[in-house]
Amino acid sequence: MLLPAPILLLLLLLTFPVQEDIYKEKREKMVERHIKGRGISDKAVLKAMRTVKRHLFVPQALAAEAYNDHPLPIGHDQTISQPYIVAYMTEVLEPKPQMKVLEIGTGSGYQAAVLAEIVKEVYTIEIVPEHGRAAAERLKKLGYDNVHVKVGDGYKGWKEHAPYDAIIVTAGAEAVPPPLLEQLKEGGSMVIPVGPQNQTQSLQLIEKKKGKAVTKDLLPVVFVPFTREKEE
Ligand code: SAH
Repeated sequence: MLLPAPILLLLLLLTFPVQEDIYKEKREKMVERHIKGRGISDKAVLKAMRTVKRHLFVPQALAAEAYNDHPLPIGHDQTISQPYIVAYMTEVLEPKPQMKVLEIGTGSGYQAAVLAEIVKEVYTIEIVPEHGRAAAERLKKLGYDNVHVKVGDGYKGWKEHAPYDAIIVTAGAEAVPPPLLEQLKEGGSMVIPVGPQNQTQSLQLIEKKKGKAVTKDLLPVVFVPFTREKEE
């Protein structure tokens, strides 16, 4: 049976807000249970986690699972981190409204969006061109004008906009890339998973003090590998 166009339109208009409300409720629950419930207390971080629509950053078929506390595949063997880890990594950087942050590993753009809700500018680099382009488009569509996406090898950082108040690396690196430490402001912090490829990594918080890295191990994590562009 074919419904007349005006009725179809009405049905569409009616179902869309209902779905949005379902996701809003799921998001609230996620924050209460998995974010606040597990000890995240920074008000700005909690607000950002309540605001960013994670279901718009995962493949459509997985939208219903977007607010469960686990990572999800986003294609090309990559994953979007579990919400708790996103909130945790954001909180340890002590984000403030005037800050400029560099992210390595744009992926879906979700972590960048969470940061962009709090800080002034987010610069983010993705090595898989398809992901970089898709994330840039998605972030633009959602109105995140303060996120700048670049396709390339994040090992080298993004010198033009350095120094950064904070740096967040969302792929597991074997060691801290020296250019990233160089591009970090004195007194700034970097959060990065460090460890051998395909093993559990240690999430490290690195503070730059008098030009040197002061490292603290936070918790064991499993991130997809930090890859490198082949040298010409
Ligand atoms: N922050 C993302 C999830 C990151 S998954 C999100 O919120 O969705 C890790 C991402 O890091 C992957 O997309 C992977 O392609 C990317 N990556 C790995 N090595 C990289 C490198 N050297 N430079 C830039 N991106 C890199």
